Amino acid sequence: MHSLSQLHTFGLVAHAPFIIEFNAIQHIMAHQCHQDAFVILGEGSNTVFTEDYYGEVWINKLHGMVFSEDTTNHYIKVASGENWHSLVTTCVERGIGGFENLALIPGTVGAAPIQNIGAYGIEVGPYVDSVEYVDLATRTIQTISGSDCAFGYRDSIFKHALKDKVFITKVNFTIPKLVATVTSYGELATLTSPSIFDIYEKVIQIRQQKLPDPKQIGNAGSFFKNPVISTQHFTALQARFPAIPSFPVSDDLVKVPAGWLIDTLGFKGKIMDGIQCHPQQALVLTNIATGTGSALINFARQIIAEVSAQFGITLEHEVQLLGRINRITL
Ligand SMILES: Cc1cc2nc3c(=O)[nH]c(=O)nc-3n(C[C@H](O)[C@H](O)[C@H](O)COP(=O)(O)OP(=O)(O)OC[C@H]3O[C@@H](n4cnc5c(N)ncnc54)[C@H](O)[C@@H]3O)c2cc1C
Repeated sequence: MHSLSQLHTFGLVAHAPFIIEFNAIQHIMAHQCHQDAFVILGEGSNTVFTEDYYGEVWINKLHGMVFSEDTTNHYIKVASGENWHSLVTTCVERGIGGFENLALIPGTVGAAPIQNIGAYGIEVGPYVDSVEYVDLATRTIQTISGSDCAFGYRDSIFKHALKDKVFITKVNFTIPKLVATVTSYGELATLTSPSIFDIYEKVIQIRQQKLPDPKQIGNAGSFFKNPVISTQHFTALQARFPAIPSFPVSDDLVKVPAGWLIDTLGFKGKIMDGIQCHPQQALVLTNIATGTGSALINFARQIIAEVSAQFGITLEHEVQLLGRINRITL
């Protein structure tokens, strides 16, 4: 058995019998899976192995980036195994604006469209022109347009109809040259007439202050999604909790920060069997010492149960949890 601890940022102790690296599309197309299950892994920053995994672990090592432009757009074709933050840095260095708010998000480019990564008022979805993938049933190369990816909040077709059916090999981005910077969100609003480099640096600074570095403390970023509830439900909650924050989603829906709900219930800083609810950011669970998969699951379930009992809201986990052979849904 091979160790998986270094392959997922939560860092729990887990093992797998087969770990296979793919550095060419031909290898993916030719590979015959000999186990009952497999999981594709980028940098494991949104995946937690909660125990030994008995399928094949496929590691994405596809590399390469090609930049081109015309009078209106930049076009970037990026192999899916490239590091996301390196892409953002390269864009900023080349004076290409659009991704600067998404600096320092861990992970690979190939995983970015799967959960439509987002931060500081920006999501990657609108910049995705198309996604290329190997269809694992037919072993053929297919392309899906960005508009067919059904991007939503931390969501896309890759979490539904194409879940576990494709190996994403390349993401093709189109970034308009006249794209406006977005500084309305949180502390970015303190910047006056910032360049894309100023925004990039500020985002890095804020993230380094607020979020635990997975290299120091195991974590997978936001453990839960921010729930979206009806305005009616929100108004009822507001009568009981006047300080409850919200962000409008549509005329009849609002998003509520899951971190606020968890914090209000007193979980921030709490430790259970080596798993901690981060003292600065209640949405992040961390592996502070000798955490185990079952301790993490128990802690997350307790949070879900108490949020449900107190607020009538069902939290969904954003992180992909893996058990012996299957994905786990809490
Ligand atoms: C400290 C920290 C901060 C974070 N902040 C943010 C944030 O601000 N915003 C945000 O949106 N996310 C954030 N995340 C979550 C994470 O960075 C993203 O989800 C990222 O896109 C995951 O990339 P990865 O390569 O590590 O994916 P992995 O964890 O390796 O994989 C994630 C899922 O995608 C599948 N997958 C991966 N690659 C492929 C492929 N090539 N083809 C098909 N399926 C594939 C996997 O099977 C798995 O189900 C954060 C995580 C951490 C640890």
